[in-house]
Amino acid sequence: MSPGAAAPGAAAPGAAAPGAAAPGAAAPGAAAPGAAAPNDAQGLDEDLKERASELRDRALGDEVAYLFVEQLTTEVGSRFAGTASDRRGVEWALRKLEALGFDNVRAEPVEVPRWVRGHARGEIVAPYPQAVALIALGGSDGTPDGGIEAEVLEVADMEDLATRDAAEVAGKIVFISQRMRRTPDGTGYGEAVGKRVTGASKAAALGAVAVLIRSAGTDYNRLGHTGTMRYADDGRRIPAAALSNPDADTLSRQMASGKTVRFRLDLGSRHLDPVMSANVIGEIVGREAPDEIVLLAAHLDSWDVGTGAVDDASGCGIITAAAHLIGQLPQRPRRTLRVFLAANEEFGLSGARAYAERHADTLAQHIAGFESDLGADRVRVMRSRVAPDAIPLVEDIAELLAPLGIEYENNEARGGADLSPLRPHGVPLFDLPQDASRYFDLHHTDNDTFDKIDPEQLAQNVAAYATLAYILAEVKEDFRPAPEFEPRR
Ligand SMILES: [Zn+2]
Repeated sequence: MSPGAAAPGAAAPGAAAPGAAAPGAAAPGAAAPGAAAPNDAQGLDEDLKERASELRDRALGDEVAYLFVEQLTTEVGSRFAGTASDRRGVEWALRKLEALGFDNVRAEPVEVPRWVRGHARGEIVAPYPQAVALIALGGSDGTPDGGIEAEVLEVADMEDLATRDAAEVAGKIVFISQRMRRTPDGTGYGEAVGKRVTGASKAAALGAVAVLIRSAGTDYNRLGHTGTMRYADDGRRIPAAALSNPDADTLSRQMASGKTVRFRLDLGSRHLDPVMSANVIGEIVGREAPDEIVLLAAHLDSWDVGTGAVDDASGCGIITAAAHLIGQLPQRPRRTLRVFLAANEEFGLSGARAYAERHADTLAQHIAGFESDLGADRVRVMRSRVAPDAIPLVEDIAELLAPLGIEYENNEARGGADLSPLRPHGVPLFDLPQDASRYFDLHHTDNDTFDKIDPEQLAQNVAAYATLAYILAEVKEDFRPAPEFEPRR
């Protein structure tokens, strides 16, 4: 799941892709002419339900996703945007999709920003000196050589920070100690991620010299959680790092002593010039309506720590396996299934924006899209965002997913971060979110590795994604136009 990307960055992608508004595609109401018959709310025919159930059950025994994640994390490892291993990841994915028999396998070039983490050291200097475990936030500037030493000011959260005045903050290292809640639906992350994305710019505006946050993560390891942060365009830029949960506790306890707490932060992070990466695409071309696209997304990049197994090699494996299973059926689906393995989701959604620009002329032929980017544990629910008259079809799909323990939640799907540039175009979206209870123990840390993947839960994902993808690609009915988005509060 993208962090900065999902919530706080939500405005950016749409805004960044003005070129993406294909003529006639702008109005969310504009279903493509000649596309599919209007719906008369009949639901799915029995034959199709039967075939979809067989596919679903077969998917539970399929190993393509598991092998995908195992091999990608073993043969390539982490895939941070613009690095040599990112490029190896692209080459690997192209070979993998070819080997699995996908059509039209290709790399679509994407320019990505390049940031280098460098060293990261932190220590409490006073009152009780000790080193702590921390990690630079993605995009942070480094400190001057030798680091920055200053008094620490602890604030509870971003709201608390907003109440402080410059006299109190100036010259200090601001420590935002807000703790993240563990929740199955990931809402705890939504609450906690703001401090990571904008904490530095808000604190800098008040004269702070650096920012420390408690990691946006739910584990008790001495590992920081990285993730995107952003500087205000016209603001001061101060270094920003995330403490592990136990080290944030230690710092809070030293603050509670009432003594002056001083901290030294030393980060070697730096920005380099942008470089090239690529979106990787593979298709199962449709037999009757090849120009109508059902888009399955995940992101191929990862952070530089860990091996990006749950974020998001698993998502790539899930959608690849789902499309592959459908490609193995005796008959191709009516519409084209397109697997979209996005470049650089984590550090700025470069691949998502590039996709929307490159495919601007055909976004009106995107019948539906959905993404896997919340780990590899069981899918909990399905959400849709479809024209109201297509809801009976969605309810039938939900019946097919029920044996997997998946409930239909509502018609307010948002799609994943890599689909966010499609939102203004009325493309129907689905969400099949995983149980995120465990995800934020691992997310954006060195602990995001292959051993955390549970093959049974991964297979349940493949079954769910394959079932949904198959129906969307096979039915004659349309799901457009998707209801417009309310701006997120
Ligand atoms: Zn992700």
